[in-house]
Amino acid sequence: MEEDLNVRKKAELTLGGGIRLPEGFVFPYRVSVSTAGPGAGSASAVFSFGGHRVKKSISYDEGEFDLVEENGKLALKKDGTAFLDEVRIEPIVFHSPEQAFFNLDQRCRYRCAFCVSPKLDKDLDKGLTDEDMVMMTKKAIGEQKVVSVSLTSGVFGSVDRTVERFVSCVSKLRKEFPDMPIGVEPYVSKKEHVKALKDAGATEIKLNIQSPSKAIFKKVCPDLDQDNVIEMLIYSVEVFGKGKVTSNMIFGMGETDEEMEDMSEFLCSKGIIPTFRALRVNPSNRSALLSAIGEQPPADPDRVVRLAKMLKEKLAAHGLDTRSCRTMCIECGCCDIVPFRDL
Ligand code: SF4
Ligand code: SF4
Repeated sequence: MEEDLNVRKKAELTLGGGIRLPEGFVFPYRVSVSTAGPGAGSASAVFSFGGHRVKKSISYDEGEFDLVEENGKLALKKDGTAFLDEVRIEPIVFHSPEQAFFNLDQRCRYRCAFCVSPKLDKDLDKGLTDEDMVMMTKKAIGEQKVVSVSLTSGVFGSVDRTVERFVSCVSKLRKEFPDMPIGVEPYVSKKEHVKALKDAGATEIKLNIQSPSKAIFKKVCPDLDQDNVIEMLIYSVEVFGKGKVTSNMIFGMGETDEEMEDMSEFLCSKGIIPTFRALRVNPSNRSALLSAIGEQPPADPDRVVRLAKMLKEKLAAHGLDTRSCRTMCIECGCCDIVPFRDL
């Protein structure tokens, strides 16, 4: 019962606004400013409670939730009333707790309506070289727990060039860290890309199907080909193995629960682990989303939990488990309800 309540609260937190810090509160860890994911572009931090963790934007000036210090403990309030009795602040390695997660290039030639990364201020583009990332990871390993390295990127230039960049970075990381799980989230267009990433030393791959509905995909990702993503996913299972290939579906773009379920059944039957992400609308993506799919009802916590439970059943029925993954959003778990980890 308590556990169900915490899952519901996590869903509420992941969908809700930021956290206001008490005046003068000194943050115990370095604050993250990410270039990908729902909190991209804003200062954010990771909070944990009851075995769950969430990444939230933080500010001294505003927030839907208030961080308060009571009896030597940190708690969260919402609208002035208790929301969570005890929360802890967790250290972030890079972007994610216990993970060195790098965005190779936030720029992208494509125009996915929900995507914030290419619209961010150029100043946030950290322009890291492969050597920088190796060095930063090595330093982090010496200072804190690091379970894996993950890489994402927009497509700047060509798909071939972007995959080459991934390959170069993965090769250097693999050479330096022979046993480290390495996850990649590229856009690939041919089988050779998938093979090259595996040969370089990647252990997990995430290729995003983005929506369970082909019609919605066409509207929100007008430059991309969903059939090709599916073909690449199926091939990736041959190369990376069952349970090492994941694919994100965004919900809240006009799809039905039935479509989410049907696509999950299809992906799981092929050995692919679907991940679900509620659509987050913000000033950077609002107008592109309105043009693509019109006004949609905001995702609500009940649907988040309902879909996560459905996904857990589908995974279990096909012998899949998110605990086989060590990288990217499944391992991080800060923005979604992850089956087998949160519930
Ligand atoms: S391919 Fe689409 S989702 Fe990926 S970075 Fe580019 S615009 Fe964003
Ligand atoms: S769940 Fe994914 S997008 Fe969210 S903070 Fe973690 S790695 Fe980033």
